[in-house]
Amino acid sequence: MKEDLINLKNQAIAQIAECKDLEELEQIRIDLFGRSGKFTLASKEIANIPVEEKKQFGITLNEVKNTLEEQFAEKRNELNNNARVWFDPTMPSKLPKLGKLHMVTHAINEIAEVFEKIGFTRMKYPEVEFDYFAFGALNFPENHPARDDWETFFVDQPESKKYGPMLLTPHTSSGQIREMLSNKPPIRMINIAKCYRRQIDVSHYPMFHQFEGLVVDKDISITHLRGTIDHFAKSFFGPERVTRLRPYHFQFTEPSFEVDISCNVCNGKGCKLCKEGWLEIGGAGMVHPNVLSNCGLDPKVYSGFAFGWGVERTYMMKSGLSVPDIRLLYSSDLRVLKQL
Ligand SMILES: [Zn+2]
Repeated sequence: MKEDLINLKNQAIAQIAECKDLEELEQIRIDLFGRSGKFTLASKEIANIPVEEKKQFGITLNEVKNTLEEQFAEKRNELNNNARVWFDPTMPSKLPKLGKLHMVTHAINEIAEVFEKIGFTRMKYPEVEFDYFAFGALNFPENHPARDDWETFFVDQPESKKYGPMLLTPHTSSGQIREMLSNKPPIRMINIAKCYRRQIDVSHYPMFHQFEGLVVDKDISITHLRGTIDHFAKSFFGPERVTRLRPYHFQFTEPSFEVDISCNVCNGKGCKLCKEGWLEIGGAGMVHPNVLSNCGLDPKVYSGFAFGWGVERTYMMKSGLSVPDIRLLYSSDLRVLKQL
């Protein structure tokens, strides 16, 4: 019987020595000392042993148990030490990955800052709007193609008797009407918002951003428009840039202009990018007398100017970015967005 115990001990010592992890070690312990473990069963044999051998058997049992417990403790320490990862608190830590603002958000912040510095107030108006504010009050005739659902997204809602059907604003100019109806001159507002049109190709997206300025007061003239546009061009694009106004036609301004800015590549001399030294930036003009009247302002007393330009286009002109497909801007593809 004593030999059986010694064999059990030697076997267990060999197993413990070869053991590779804590889980396996625990299994070996349970196989020995668990309720039906080998050692537990062997120790119960003491009841069947002749009285004169009991004492010696008891001593051997204790010896085996103590030895194995020591072996387990040592092995447990060894495995624990191996599992511990070496840690140097003086090493620089791994920095968390930080996101950044989208190119369009940067552009909006920069544009807003330029105008806020010269006293424009940033305003926000509905993007789901009535036809009246987006077209009617802006002097668009009933049969204007922009009022067709081939160009504008109409919302499936009952028409208002007074304001017509609802739509997603195709331009920021609807904000002009909202502004003049709710605030009396002097008005100096900048509205930067999403616009929606039925268009999609490499250079157009159904959702895009515009920024729209409106100034209405007594004695506002084209020189104020010119000065404001020049100030923006120099602040946003650089002090060497100049602008020019080219006669054009819009429904809600009279006279109307396209605004060009001198090309930064050739400094206005003419190159591949600009052809004749100028790059088109967007529309502007003096607020049409009909629009002022529609908003309850007497055109004989008040005058004003307005401009509305694309945020994406303006920012790309500044950064020199050429995005081969405008849809990439809103694709959420990190490979693209990380470059912007
Ligand atoms: Zn050029």
